[in-house]
Amino acid sequence: MSKNAVKNIKERALLLEILTKLNVDVLINRLEISNVETKQFFEEKLFKMKSGIVGEDRLNKIFNHYQFPFPYQVLKGVSLDSGGKFQTDCLILTPNLIILLESKNISGKLYFESNPERLVREKENGLIDVYESPEVQVERNVTLLKMWLEEHGLKIPVVGAFILTSAKHPIVVKEPLRIQALFPKSVFSYVHQQWNQYRNRKQFLSIDGMEKLREMIELESVKNRYEQFPLRKRWSFENVKLVQGVRCCRCNKIGMTWISRSWECKCGYKDKDAHIPTLQEWFIFNKNTITNKECREYLMIDSRHVIKRLLKHKCILEIGNTKGTNYKWNW
Ligand SMILES: [Zn+2]
Repeated sequence: MSKNAVKNIKERALLLEILTKLNVDVLINRLEISNVETKQFFEEKLFKMKSGIVGEDRLNKIFNHYQFPFPYQVLKGVSLDSGGKFQTDCLILTPNLIILLESKNISGKLYFESNPERLVREKENGLIDVYESPEVQVERNVTLLKMWLEEHGLKIPVVGAFILTSAKHPIVVKEPLRIQALFPKSVFSYVHQQWNQYRNRKQFLSIDGMEKLREMIELESVKNRYEQFPLRKRWSFENVKLVQGVRCCRCNKIGMTWISRSWECKCGYKDKDAHIPTLQEWFIFNKNTITNKECREYLMIDSRHVIKRLLKHKCILEIGNTKGTNYKWNW
């Protein structure tokens, strides 16, 4: 596996770990929001981000279990630019065709509606959510990928499907009409069927050619990848402030105090490294960097020397320049 692919997988695994470990409700309390609707809006965004990553992770795991009896390469978390950026969860390169797979981590009752095209989900409690049609998404990504490949001198067939990756299988009430929807266990036979249809047709890629294409896609994906953090930039919430103070890892309340070389909470919990997850929340929401002054305000400590000491940690990178020292999260 190339260095870029390892970096990509490592970053995604880390993000998944953060979102799984940190409850979305806990994370959202770091934002100073009094308006209930705005709060719900951010909660939904965080939940969607989390379920998207969980679904991708499930899709990736499928390929750890299977080996196909023909030459192929699996690419995950692809991000390319073909007159506009597009992202796709998984590509399977073979000599004769490329298979594009999207993960949809959605449970409940699903209605793939056609005029207008959209996906409607009915939850167990009767609430309705509306999503972009996965059929439209797969078709768009197949077209954009074909355009990208042609720009790079390759005219190879591309087919696509989406995988319903929710741990709790959804009930499909109204099925999609044009694009195949699969449960994870059917992916193996779907890929096989596609290969069987194309195996006796023209071969577009040699083993070397497949390897080169994989490297090219990985390189461009790393370059194009949407910067996950800070969310302030990505979700444009310029006016929302962060709540100051260190969060207790036991009771989740914000407002621990630094007393004789350790953080102490009213609940009785003590932890000398409690500021580290709190700093991570700064880098998730706010900015890529933090200065000593910003850190003093955020952690509510007066001494620049104490802050300097607290920032010496394996999770934090120190970057010095002529204007002074900046600190970054070591993702
Ligand atoms: Zn506590």
